[in-house]
Amino acid sequence: MGTWLMASILAAAAVMVVRYNDGLSELDDWARQTDVLLSEKLAQHDAHMTALSAIIRMSPNEPAESVQGLAQSVTAFYPRITDVATIRIEKPDAPVIAYGGQNGPVAAQPEPAAELPILNKPGDTAVRPAANKHSYSIYKLVDAGRLLRLKINAAGLLGIDRIPPEYSVSLFLGEALLFERAANAQSLFVATTQVSANNVGQPLKLSIGRSFSLSELLPPFAIAPLLAIVAAAIWMVERYRHASRERRRQEQRAALLEQETRLAHAGRVNALGEMASGIAHELAQPVAALLAQSQAARRAVVINRPDILEQTLDANVREAKRAGDILGRMRAYISGADARIETVTLEDALTGSIHLIETDLAQRGVILETSLPGSQHEVAIDVISFQQVIHNLIRNAAEAMVGQSEPRIWLTAAFQAGDAIITIRDNGPGMDTTLLDRIFDPFFTTKPDGMGLGLPLCARLVEKMDGTIEARNDAGACFTIRLPVREPA
Ligand code: ADP
Repeated sequence: MGTWLMASILAAAAVMVVRYNDGLSELDDWARQTDVLLSEKLAQHDAHMTALSAIIRMSPNEPAESVQGLAQSVTAFYPRITDVATIRIEKPDAPVIAYGGQNGPVAAQPEPAAELPILNKPGDTAVRPAANKHSYSIYKLVDAGRLLRLKINAAGLLGIDRIPPEYSVSLFLGEALLFERAANAQSLFVATTQVSANNVGQPLKLSIGRSFSLSELLPPFAIAPLLAIVAAAIWMVERYRHASRERRRQEQRAALLEQETRLAHAGRVNALGEMASGIAHELAQPVAALLAQSQAARRAVVINRPDILEQTLDANVREAKRAGDILGRMRAYISGADARIETVTLEDALTGSIHLIETDLAQRGVILETSLPGSQHEVAIDVISFQQVIHNLIRNAAEAMVGQSEPRIWLTAAFQAGDAIITIRDNGPGMDTTLLDRIFDPFFTTKPDGMGLGLPLCARLVEKMDGTIEARNDAGACFTIRLPVREPA
């Protein structure tokens, strides 16, 4: 989401920059066009001034018809020139003679001498903003005693109607503002440019401003597809990232699985040595039985009792098979053969596990109290793995209680809500509560010579049987295994 927002902002900014640049070049175009137009008009004023002063010079007696004729055509063709007049400078009280009107030349109010420019030699010119602000006057010294004055309406200089309404326009003569039009648009900001009409006698300055509104800089028709493209691009990048993450996760899982397999094998080999005494104990029984039955068979031959001989040989076959089974399980266990899920009663599976550890516990002086369900509920388990789990848990309990008086382990099993629940509890020191959640992590150990592989292996084996294992403190340490129950058919 954050990326999408960032990318959208960047895309919007890019659109704004492009549109802003377009606007700026449009502004430049308008400024250039208006400047050219203005220069042409100012040049026309110069030409009129020249023509008029020539005629005035030839008319020493005013008012003169010839001046009126030319002035009338000038004001008729160029309405922005509102007034053509001559002023007698050597006689400040003499009336100003205004030409160009419909009713011929008329005598007007004299202009205060203080407002007139002082020009030295014939042909010199000057400009002044007029009192009404929207006009300016151009003065030219015609001859020693007379000034020619043209009054120009500034609004007529610009052809303002051509310029689009979103532009603001101001025209200055020096510092005096002659004309101003504000932009009609709501603007986010304004870009302004200034031009001068390049006329030395009429030094006008034009300032044109371009307003930019938000909707102009970010028009929805440009933004919407752009945002859609950005969103699509981000979606594709995210998909690609997601796919790479998924691939990495799969690779990690595969590596982890391989590690677990190796771990399980290492655990089995490790536990083998510790189970050796239990296995020897298991084997001792069938071997002793074989010996006893074989001796009985010999006696049966001596006393010629084929019926007893047959019985003893049958018993030998049974015992030899049992010993063979035990060895077969050992082989399967060491070789790491695939889990072989069997349906067995919980009681049988636990009794087998207890046999394997009994001798070890007896040697350590640990008392094992059992409370088995005594029902015929069955569980679906890999018997070898199950026995290894129980063996590891009981051995850990025994090791935790070394040197303790009256070490005791309780092994209980029960059925509850479709699960078989097996708990192995001891009266040892229990586990450090701050470390409890790390206890199933590989290589976590508090023993100087421990490997920290027993509990992670137990957890993995129980999971493979669709079960769970938990550790908590209950006086000593207490481990609870839950396995799904298979009801008898
Ligand atoms: P290891 O026995 O090699 O240390 P385990 O994975 O079997 O590896 O056990 C990890 C740790 O769990 C042990 O080092 C011990 O601190 C703790 N632990 C396991 N069982 C018990 C128990 N019954 N009582 C107290 N601590 C235990």
